[in-house]
Amino acid sequence: MNLLPSLLIVLLGGAAGATFCEPPPSPSWGFFAHRRINRLAVYTLPPELGVGFRPQADYLAEHAVDPDKRRYATEHEAVRHYIDLDHWGELPFDDVPRSYLDARMWRGGLDAVDTAGDTTHWRLDTVLFDQAILTSGERSFDLPLADYRNLWTNTLLPALYEERAVVVDSLRRLDFPDTVGAVYPVDHFSEHGILPYHLQRHHRQLTDAFVAGDADRILQLAAELGHYIGDAHVPLHTTENYNGQLTNQLGIHAFWESRLPELFADTDYDYFVGPADYISDPAEYYWNIVLESHALVDSVLTTEARLRQRFSSDRQLCVEERLGREVRTQCREYAAAWSQAMHGMVEDRFRAAVRAVGSAWYSCWVDAGQPVLNEELVRVLSQPIGNDLAPAAPTGRSGRTHE
Ligand SMILES: [Zn+2]
Repeated sequence: MNLLPSLLIVLLGGAAGATFCEPPPSPSWGFFAHRRINRLAVYTLPPELGVGFRPQADYLAEHAVDPDKRRYATEHEAVRHYIDLDHWGELPFDDVPRSYLDARMWRGGLDAVDTAGDTTHWRLDTVLFDQAILTSGERSFDLPLADYRNLWTNTLLPALYEERAVVVDSLRRLDFPDTVGAVYPVDHFSEHGILPYHLQRHHRQLTDAFVAGDADRILQLAAELGHYIGDAHVPLHTTENYNGQLTNQLGIHAFWESRLPELFADTDYDYFVGPADYISDPAEYYWNIVLESHALVDSVLTTEARLRQRFSSDRQLCVEERLGREVRTQCREYAAAWSQAMHGMVEDRFRAAVRAVGSAWYSCWVDAGQPVLNEELVRVLSQPIGNDLAPAAPTGRSGRTHE
């Protein structure tokens, strides 16, 4: 059996000029932390599952970064890594629908282009009892919410995915007023990030792969689910001010998620995170992660802004040599001061990410009926895939978990 998932065809480069959205300028969590999180998550698993996953720690670590490698290669990838929650209001964001379909309905609509080429924008204005009310300027059109939902599921979403006009018969049946020309579905939600929804989808896909007993797909999806869960734990992946560009703190994104773990994870972090938990409600679980992350955004920004006042600029950025090149990066002393000011926040989020990744893998396996990894699957999952990564089993202060 060919063990290498098709995603080994890493789609690097080629579409760097994609126009969809401005992504954060650095890989999320840095490659270092993503790899480390997946590797450590293996040790949170119970033995029945660990027997297949542990020998694959190298693979799961290496492929933890595949989603970042392809984020400029496909139009749909970038928005999966973040959600600009503050674009939609304030904590606890009760207005923001927790299901992706509802979210797109909430900020979506229809563009009707008449035969003269003029466009009329229809958008969902209000949901009143069981009626959805769409408006366009002074005009309004209402229909049962259930019909509007069905319209999205059966007509608008397929057209959206295929980037084509809607088949107008389905609109005429609902007495939609503008069906003379072409009608296009509109999604004004996704461009601001879809991370918590993508996590739910990915969770289902991994469950299905366990049901199917498809070893290649289990490994590929597990590695990538670990990536998105890691992203969800990063506060700056939940805000429009993702790189401090709105508060004159450019570079804070990589400072938090790359520089700090690279400096301190090996020496200071406690890798004992406890065993994986069962996730009974994935939607709620993943939403809670991004809401917790978002609650930390203010602290991330204000602590660093204060330090900028205390440290002269030559004590903020230092020159270091890396791979024979001199690079400017945050000075160790400055980084340590920020880490201290945040009271170990980065370590906390890192540890929470490790446990959440293990919990997700474990829960998908449970939801698949706890399939006994049959001999063939164990053999395949247990067959190490060689690579040159240095092994880094958890050797934190409290030792290993789940022996
Ligand atoms: Zn990412």
